[in-house]
Amino acid sequence: MNLLVTAGPTREMIDPVRFLSNRSTGKMGFAVARAAACHGHNVRLVAGPVALPTPEGVTRIDVTSALDMLAAVEQNLGECDALVMSAAVADWRPCHTAAQKLKKSAMRPVIELEPNPDILKTIAPRKGKKIFVGFAAETENLQEEAQRKLAAKNLDLLVANDVSQPDAGFEVDTNRVIFFTPNNPPEHLPLMQKSEVAERIISWLTNKLLRQD
Ligand code: C5P
Repeated sequence: MNLLVTAGPTREMIDPVRFLSNRSTGKMGFAVARAAACHGHNVRLVAGPVALPTPEGVTRIDVTSALDMLAAVEQNLGECDALVMSAAVADWRPCHTAAQKLKKSAMRPVIELEPNPDILKTIAPRKGKKIFVGFAAETENLQEEAQRKLAAKNLDLLVANDVSQPDAGFEVDTNRVIFFTPNNPPEHLPLMQKSEVAERIISWLTNKLLRQD
């Protein structure tokens, strides 16, 4: 299959040296890209700013902001059979990025924010027969939030994890996830390496594409 994966955080610049971002390291998305390439799939990886090497056989497209990521996804969507949207896209960006470094002497600066577009919702009209997989990192009401996002973002699979637990989610190599799919009960997976979660996602995708043909 032709797979498009997004990974990592986005960076929303305040001035040339400061930005808003989040704790995503890109490990989960890179693991998905690596697993897919190992199984012989054709993989493009849109990566936010992360400190990870490009997995062998994967075509990497580096981006910085949510708007850059949206543009890269739109540009590469055409050829893909499936999209795995594991990036932690920043929800807001500064209304203005200062051209010069802001001075400390300008005390208590107020940074006005505006919402970033939701990438999955923006590309939904182009979904057609493509399979869309999303992620949800939650700290409360995981089941309700996961079900809501599965429907709202028109996803085939939503991989949810409780990031309030120290052994799962951000910055660690392990994850405890739940697979939510439309019209099925949620599937709880045990604590496992992110590489194993990636394998599960690829095998779910392969089965889904086979059933579709
Ligand atoms: O941030 P949220 O919990 O809504 O993210 C759920 C899913 O939506 C993730 O797969 C994420 O990559 C995607 N997303 C997106 N565009 C955004 C925010 C999130 O596509 N602006």
